[in-house]
Amino acid sequence: MLVELPTPPAARADLEGHAPWLALRQDFVRLGPEFHSATPPEGLPRPRLRLVSADAAQLLGLEPPADDAARGRWAQAFSGNLAAGDGSAICTVYAGHQFGNWAGQLGDGRAHLLGEAAARDPRQALGHGWWEVQLKGAGATPYSRHADGRAVLRSSIREFLASEAMWHLGVPTTRALCLVDSDLAVRRERLETAAVVARLSPSFLRFGHFEHFSHSGRHDALRRLVDYTIERLYPACADAANPALALLREVVATTAALIAGWQALGFVHGVMNTDNMSILGWTVDYGPFGFVDAFDPAYTPNTSDTWQRYAWARQPAVARWNLLALASALVPLVDDRQALADSVEDFGEAFAARMRRRMHDKLGLGPEQPGDGELVQDWLDLLRACGADWTLAHRLLAQVVANPEIPPPDAFAGQFRRWPQRLADWLARLRQRLQPLSAPQREQRLRDMLHGNPCYVPRHHLLQHAIEQAQQGDFAAAQRLHRVWRRPYDEQADAADLAAPPPPDAAAAVLSCSS
Ligand code: AMP
Ligand code: MG
Repeated sequence: MLVELPTPPAARADLEGHAPWLALRQDFVRLGPEFHSATPPEGLPRPRLRLVSADAAQLLGLEPPADDAARGRWAQAFSGNLAAGDGSAICTVYAGHQFGNWAGQLGDGRAHLLGEAAARDPRQALGHGWWEVQLKGAGATPYSRHADGRAVLRSSIREFLASEAMWHLGVPTTRALCLVDSDLAVRRERLETAAVVARLSPSFLRFGHFEHFSHSGRHDALRRLVDYTIERLYPACADAANPALALLREVVATTAALIAGWQALGFVHGVMNTDNMSILGWTVDYGPFGFVDAFDPAYTPNTSDTWQRYAWARQPAVARWNLLALASALVPLVDDRQALADSVEDFGEAFAARMRRRMHDKLGLGPEQPGDGELVQDWLDLLRACGADWTLAHRLLAQVVANPEIPPPDAFAGQFRRWPQRLADWLARLRQRLQPLSAPQREQRLRDMLHGNPCYVPRHHLLQHAIEQAQQGDFAAAQRLHRVWRRPYDEQADAADLAAPPPPDAAAAVLSCSS
């Protein structure tokens, strides 16, 4: 448990100082020197603490800052101005395939691993016993290549809000502890200002870490990395006949569950390169992500993705491709190549089973029956033909199905204006499918549907509005989104505007990789 000790707050003079209340240990260094480089963060001039996740603070046993002095301490520590733990911040080296091509060495170009804290409750870390604390945007590192090591306020707000929202939506993801900003100018397409997000995860290891040591022929190091990963993240694999193969199988399973979670929410990551794939099967690196509004399987928010490689409909296939890249990286440790390939092939069925489960929950279908596949597919085709809003159409479905005697509300019917008869026919089939249930069973089923269909997701236009306000120094809109998105499945008073699809004049969710 971490305890806050009084530390004098304040400014640049503290750059060489320490944050003894942020007690972290650095475990990653035991892997050996070739895995990281010790690099203190550059920090931020005159940092301001702007957003704090009290939930995330609680994961570490930290009290969220309650007064200006504490806020000052947080701003200094989580901008990188104060050294945390024993001061041994590190950056790790990895490689990766980007847009299908081998990109060679990459590494933490703007991320500093401060160390790790014991998890107060491992269940909140999906069974893991600690949280690694990483700063994103705290300055250049040996892996920055020609970039500046910075992150702009715009992308930092997106990462902070979306990762916290995704967690509460029920998808494994890195968490965001806080966001600190500064007037430091950063050049992107235009001049912007810098920010740092402190993020948490049991591990920030990516497929690309394994690829790096495999492709550079350092097979001893690769073996150590696999052992370390198994010891810390997948201990059940240690007893397998071939632990590296067992690890791959586990990663196939966690990745299949992850992608089904993304698909069901209409989440598009945007940059599913192997360096952005977590070995834990958690969502990591929020860049040009988006949530589908009007359903279009070819939707991708990333304007740099000309070929729509990472569109919604392609995410499962890309995950499999990335798992193949991971499997190839493990070849030096597994004699039986066929077994590696077969493990990746298991992804198809593992994903399909997870996805069926998700869609059954969304449509209230319960245990599978013959004909369900067609019912689900026809619903997806209908959503697509009508360009219906993914989140809203699903959210209102339970209410519509429950009340066959009254016409669907306009908010729902309006989504299907192009094909009203097709909608009516499909609804009749769904009602028929639920007919054999007793009335109480059916009511329960419809209530359960609300747990599969969120009311609120981080829609692009809402993020955009909060960013524009924050760029004027007003974080109220961002704080409101943070608050409402903590309970995305509960309808909340005064938040109807956050459940609505984007207004017709809202700019389309298109984003470059610049962040
Ligand atoms: P991404 O696709 O954004 O996850 O980043 C790919 C690689 O570029 C990683 O090695 C990042 O650390 C690095 N990178 C991205 N933006 C910056 C930046 N502003 N400064 C330094 N490195 C960066
Ligand atoms: Mg990345």
